[in-house]
Amino acid sequence: MSAIGSGVLAELRASARVLGERLAPSLSEMEEEVAAQAALAGLAEAGLLAWSVPERDGGARTSGLAAEYCLSPDVVSVRALCALRDELAYHSGMLDVMLAMQGLGSFPLALGGNARLRQEVLPEVAAGRAVAAFALTEPGAGSSLSDVSTRAERRGDKWVLNGHKTFISNAPIARFFSVLARTGEPSEEDAGLSMFFVPSDAWGLDVQPFEVLAPHPIGDVLFAECEIPGEFLLGQEGQGLELALGTLARFRTSVAAAANGFARRALDESRAHLRARRQSGKPLARHQALRFDVAEMDVRLRAAQLLVDEAAEQVDTGAEATLAVARAKLFATEAAGWSCDRAVQLHGGLGVKKGTVVERLYRDVRALRIYEGTSEIQKAILARQLLGD
Ligand SMILES: Cc1cc2nc3c(=O)[nH]c(=O)nc-3n(C[C@H](O)[C@H](O)[C@H](O)COP(=O)(O)OP(=O)(O)OC[C@H]3O[C@@H](n4cnc5c(N)ncnc54)[C@H](O)[C@@H]3O)c2cc1C
Repeated sequence: MSAIGSGVLAELRASARVLGERLAPSLSEMEEEVAAQAALAGLAEAGLLAWSVPERDGGARTSGLAAEYCLSPDVVSVRALCALRDELAYHSGMLDVMLAMQGLGSFPLALGGNARLRQEVLPEVAAGRAVAAFALTEPGAGSSLSDVSTRAERRGDKWVLNGHKTFISNAPIARFFSVLARTGEPSEEDAGLSMFFVPSDAWGLDVQPFEVLAPHPIGDVLFAECEIPGEFLLGQEGQGLELALGTLARFRTSVAAAANGFARRALDESRAHLRARRQSGKPLARHQALRFDVAEMDVRLRAAQLLVDEAAEQVDTGAEATLAVARAKLFATEAAGWSCDRAVQLHGGLGVKKGTVVERLYRDVRALRIYEGTSEIQKAILARQLLGD
């Protein structure tokens, strides 16, 4: 890694560490939506949220990296996002998810929004004043986005949406949604899907929050004759799947980086606990079976970090990254799941006591194997690359 690149990334990590150490303890005491807003404010104040938006649209100045890594000012730096998510996740799942969602929810605008919309909305995202959400999943369309049935119909100079999105992160607090909707039937040219910018105060839009395993604002979004201006179509009609997959392709590696942050914390907590806790007159760290768990956690983490570095560099430099990204997402999230589970085991009862760090890690890490493409979908992607259809 070059001096310029590693210097910037090290600074980002340091800032994220300072923020995490300062904010994480109080976030875990707050009610979920209050914590989400506090996390967002902290990230914005520390200048970290700006890294979720391209430089061209009011995001952080990536030029220091660009000189070395051919980054373009109209995309976000995956290596920067990975450095930040790894460090934030180490301290707080909430800090991590708030940074990630600002990027994921707003990147379709960066890719397909007209200049006016981008200028109006994206600097607000970078400053934490507009909360973004990314709405693809539906009750009948999860892993298979071609099953999306939310409809958008053109009426005069407006679009009218009808349908139901579910599992939409940030739904209860979002200022806007990037929504994938059906505008036609699949054809040889495209999937018949388009992407829309939908403000949360649009008439006919309703949010129904629900809870998941870990603190994470999330909910259903219902559209009933929900009307938006024609200019809120992002990109071209029929280009929606391309914008959705383009967004996922850029952000998916950072899920793996967050997994590494959780796994690194699980390893640190386990080392400290095994040294401190004594049973049968000696520290737990003297039991070989437990020592082997720690050794295995270390190896899996290091392998996952190398896979993330490789994938992030390929995406940033515009290389063909499909294999590398799927490998990183699959391996890092599975490895982190294993490590957090072992950390609970090594802590005994304390591992499941509400409020302990490993109990938090165990809950925080689980969804990473599911969202932005499940582990099985990553395997399907890898197999297709390796064997063809
Ligand atoms: C915490 C959380 C946050 C989320 N945030 C968002 C969000 O912000 N926006 C959004 O749009 N969505 C979001 N999601 C939804 C997420 O992307 C989906 O849950 C995910 O894509 C899987 O879809 P599904 O839940 O419908 O499961 P399904 O697709 O029904 O899958 C069920 C099981 O079948 C397997 N499976 C499915 N298809 C195949 C196949 N072809 N080959 C092999 N196995 C297969 C899956 O791997 C899984 O194990 C979120 C989910 C969670 C849990």
